Amino acid sequence: MGRLVPPTSGDPATTAALRTKVREFLADQRAAGHYTPRVDSWLSAWDEDFTRALADRGWLGMTVPSEYGGHDRSFVERFVVTEELLAAGAPVAAHWIADRQIVPSLLKYGTDEQKEKYLPGISRGEVFFGIGMSEPDSGSDLVSVRTTGTRVDGGWRINGSKVWTSGAHQAHAFIVLARTAPVDATNRHAGLSQFLVDLDSPGVQVRPIISMSGEHHFNEVFLTDVLVPDSQVFGTIGQGWEQVTSELSFERSGPERVLSTFPLLAGLTAMDNGPELGRLVGRIAGLHQMSAAVAGALERRERADVAAAVVKVLGTSTEGDIAEAAALLTGDESDDDWKKLVHTGLDQRPGFTLRGGTNEILRGVIARGLGLR
Ligand SMILES: Cc1cc2nc3c(=O)[nH]c(=O)nc-3n(C[C@H](O)[C@H](O)[C@H](O)COP(=O)(O)OP(=O)(O)OC[C@H]3O[C@@H](n4cnc5c(N)ncnc54)[C@H](O)[C@@H]3O)c2cc1C
Repeated sequence: MGRLVPPTSGDPATTAALRTKVREFLADQRAAGHYTPRVDSWLSAWDEDFTRALADRGWLGMTVPSEYGGHDRSFVERFVVTEELLAAGAPVAAHWIADRQIVPSLLKYGTDEQKEKYLPGISRGEVFFGIGMSEPDSGSDLVSVRTTGTRVDGGWRINGSKVWTSGAHQAHAFIVLARTAPVDATNRHAGLSQFLVDLDSPGVQVRPIISMSGEHHFNEVFLTDVLVPDSQVFGTIGQGWEQVTSELSFERSGPERVLSTFPLLAGLTAMDNGPELGRLVGRIAGLHQMSAAVAGALERRERADVAAAVVKVLGTSTEGDIAEAAALLTGDESDDDWKKLVHTGLDQRPGFTLRGGTNEILRGVIARGLGLR
């Protein structure tokens, strides 16, 4: 049987100086009162000033070539920066999707014009993105999307609706998966395509969905006769499924699938030293190695979809268990800020194992990777 997760690679000493710099920056930002640690900060803590402060240090668009305004750094260096930001609960939601997912996708599939249009702005912390995959009846079974792209003179007319679109009310553009050819019963994955849609385009309407905690991260996005020029077709018409699945390794394996509740774990260490805390610290340490190993594989352009699924299943279960442990181990004497952090962790927990593909679906991906299905 092959390895489920690639071997760890790279010497941590080579990135130690960078890690220290990020920690110093975060300590300065906190001391200056620019942020307080948040749970699930990569989804819910949108702070464009903080994003620009990161960009000023060259910590956005790290893997973007300098000709497109980026910094020619490695995935592994980006991994170190993002891991530190998440561990500190820093407000990184504004740029998260653009920097994590749109950057590698544009570098792989984007035209020169698209790279020039978006990459410099992403690297400056000025251009933000959303993901338009899910629809009211298409989540796990994404191939069943009903949004359509119809060929018209000079481009494509898009009609349909998307749901759970995080950040669409604040982002500039989103990447839309649409059906551009009728369903072929012998190959349902054919006939799908992706489009880069600017969210201020005529015909795009964004409506809020308020979550049970009262916050606004999600949206419904309605697309009515939205005209997308050929220059905004992403990749190749008809290859949308291959493109989406190649993006998913970037979406599923990063430290944000492990560290959403790390500020709770860090806080607990000051209050408790029992065996449950030890178990959680051990799980996080192992997941750090696994997630770093996938970053190394992506750097070497190796396939990492199964490994990414393993990280996501184990990582999102662990971050949920941390939220639960924080609630169980915290005494009545704890202060209000801490209680609020614990409640946020519990409120956000159901989403951890859903977003980016549910754990049930990912177990199927892993089973296939092991040759069991
Ligand atoms: C916090 C959060 C942020 C999100 N942000 C975005 C976003 O920005 N853009 C976007 O496009 N989407 C986003 N999503 C949507 C997310 O990708 C979907 O919720 C997810 O893919 C599941 O789809 P669904 O909600 O339609 O559930 P369903 O697919 O209806 O699944 C419901 C339940 O049935 C189970 N199930 C379904 N099929 C099977 C099967 N074949 N075998 C076993 N079990 C099965 C699932 O595991 C799940 O438990 C977000 C979701 C969350 C929670």
